[in-house]
Amino acid sequence: QAAVITVDGPSGSGKGTVCQLLARELGWHLLDSGALYRVTALAARHHGVELDDVEALEVLAAHLDVRFKATDGGDTQIILEGEEVTHAIRNERVGEDASVVAALGPVREALLSRQRDFALAPGLVADGRDMGTVVFPQAGLKIYLDASAEERAQRRYKQLISKEPGASLGDILNDIKARDARDMNRAVAPLKPAPDAVILDSTLMSIKEVLQAVLDEARH
Ligand code: C5P
Repeated sequence: QAAVITVDGPSGSGKGTVCQLLARELGWHLLDSGALYRVTALAARHHGVELDDVEALEVLAAHLDVRFKATDGGDTQIILEGEEVTHAIRNERVGEDASVVAALGPVREALLSRQRDFALAPGLVADGRDMGTVVFPQAGLKIYLDASAEERAQRRYKQLISKEPGASLGDILNDIKARDARDMNRAVAPLKPAPDAVILDSTLMSIKEVLQAVLDEARH
């Protein structure tokens, strides 16, 4: 069994960046589980599947033709049915849709074994919402990375404003709160820290400080 570090938390907590750096530092594999939900949501759009058609979504998730391809530069390309969707899955609408399909038990079930297949030697850094609670309950280290909703909205705003000059901080904050509510209050695999998780609050921390804190925990 490969070593696993899970990093769960709400959107904008810095999980994605920290997990990338952590995987690089350790020379481990990386699972971006959110990307699987995003790809499922995008595939639904492509195939005209409604987001409340649970049966069709389950079939779609079970047969998802997705590949995570490492590039020479060290980044990962995401290929859905032969088409590169690395950037296409990152917009707000796909994120919203992803959190809708992620609330469906059969969809989560269909993606479970695919996620566990990422746990290869020498180890895996698993980024998501239920990595420590559901997918890898035996993980050697579980991190729950949090930050205030206001700080997460600020971070998102700074990323967006160069691309979308009309972006509104208030709107972003509302979106973040709505996504939190959906992820935390759903019946299946709600976002919450595993009982044995180390909780880190990144509100006042830089990415570098968070990475160092996780590495310190990993070396304990
Ligand atoms: O992390 P990311 O924003 O890419 O995830 C998109 C959505 O997918 C989340 O809002 C959440 O609803 C869902 N998700 C999940 N379980 C995971 C990862 C993501 O439910 N392990």
